[in-house]
Amino acid sequence: MESETAINLFVKKTGAWVAAQLEACTRCGLCATACHYYEATGKPEFAPVWKVELLRRAYEQRFTLGGKAKVALGIEKRISDDDIKEWSVYDFHGCSMCNKCSFVCPMGIDIASLIGSVRAGITAAGAAPAGLVKKTEVQVATGSPNGAGRQEYADWFARTAKEMGKELPIDKKGAHTLLLLTNLEIAGFPNNLPSIAKILDKAGIDWTLSLEARDAFNMGTIIGNGKVMKQLAGKIYDTAVALGVKRVLVSCCGHGYTTLRDKLPNVIGKPLPFEVQHIAELMGILVREGTIKLKEGYFANGHTYTFHDSCKIQRAGGIMDEPRLVLQQLVGDSFHEMLPNREQAICCGGGGGLRAIAEAYDIRMAAFGLKIDQINKAGADTVVTTCSNCRLQFKEGFEHYKLDTQVSGLAELMAQAMVE
Ligand code: SF4
Ligand code: SF4
Repeated sequence: MESETAINLFVKKTGAWVAAQLEACTRCGLCATACHYYEATGKPEFAPVWKVELLRRAYEQRFTLGGKAKVALGIEKRISDDDIKEWSVYDFHGCSMCNKCSFVCPMGIDIASLIGSVRAGITAAGAAPAGLVKKTEVQVATGSPNGAGRQEYADWFARTAKEMGKELPIDKKGAHTLLLLTNLEIAGFPNNLPSIAKILDKAGIDWTLSLEARDAFNMGTIIGNGKVMKQLAGKIYDTAVALGVKRVLVSCCGHGYTTLRDKLPNVIGKPLPFEVQHIAELMGILVREGTIKLKEGYFANGHTYTFHDSCKIQRAGGIMDEPRLVLQQLVGDSFHEMLPNREQAICCGGGGGLRAIAEAYDIRMAAFGLKIDQINKAGADTVVTTCSNCRLQFKEGFEHYKLDTQVSGLAELMAQAMVE
């Protein structure tokens, strides 16, 4: 490990914007109670502002007189290898990049983005968690973090086509919409694909799958490796351009969605020639505009439902009304909101790569305890989500706490309740 590599990267990332952000912090501590890992553990080292402490030290010590004086007088040490190891725990095990701290900061500091820079430095220094490093290597080699390659996807598409009794469009040139799934759905939620296929067909959308661009996941974003992020997102860009699609429709992955929608234009330095949309938004639009009619109250069957706002799809993506519109029609008065919700919602605890870090299991489950509390207060027995990663965290969390609360995907519910 090389702390010098990390310091150099921190310094490199410290442009005027980062410097202004670091200078603006008043140490008010408001961001602390916004963080589910801080709230779940009560440990000050999991306070968001502490997670960017290495960035502040690198910046001050390199660029400010005060910082240089602190080092010269022995008040503050230079960043060491041990520091890098220590902050790897705070910034990887104890942060899901959920952005809630950025929302509450009265100074408008985007702490989550700064944490992304710290992650990048830690990764460059070789101190990222082994589980994440492995998943990143596997995705670079195969296209998916779990090693699902072209053949696995081809088999899944063929199985689904057989079950549906119809051909699925694959790499269809000139289609309007490229549907991008994730490896999580192959084993975990195979019904997501036929459900979305039914919705798209019902809406009369000319769509296609691809065996070139297969997985919306982007381990480069998660681990803070810009080169890998660009390579993985670039593959999707190239495929979408080659197929000539007008829209890339992301089925579940939160970080993958915001990487394509928000980061990719900056990476390639120009606007995308296609729209990036999440299926959660499209479902709501199709229902709102009457393109698809739902059997109202179809799932109002004695169960009580709540909706989980995923950090990247809802808080960062702004897609909050559309899934609620669909769910409301499906379950009527059986829909109860968790509090807080929408942009102030609490993360499920499993994002930002935490599910791939074995050592983070305890803190991940501790944070999920906050979610259980919310669900109980809402009086819900079923949680509905639009992200498969969140859905897996809920499944594991309910098993961990031995609860029989259920979790469902919105697309699967909607596909069952469309008026023929
Ligand atoms: S981004 Fe979310 S998980 Fe990370 S420090 Fe901020 S509130 Fe905590
Ligand atoms: S809320 Fe903002 S100003 Fe307050 S401690 Fe956190 S980052 Fe600093």
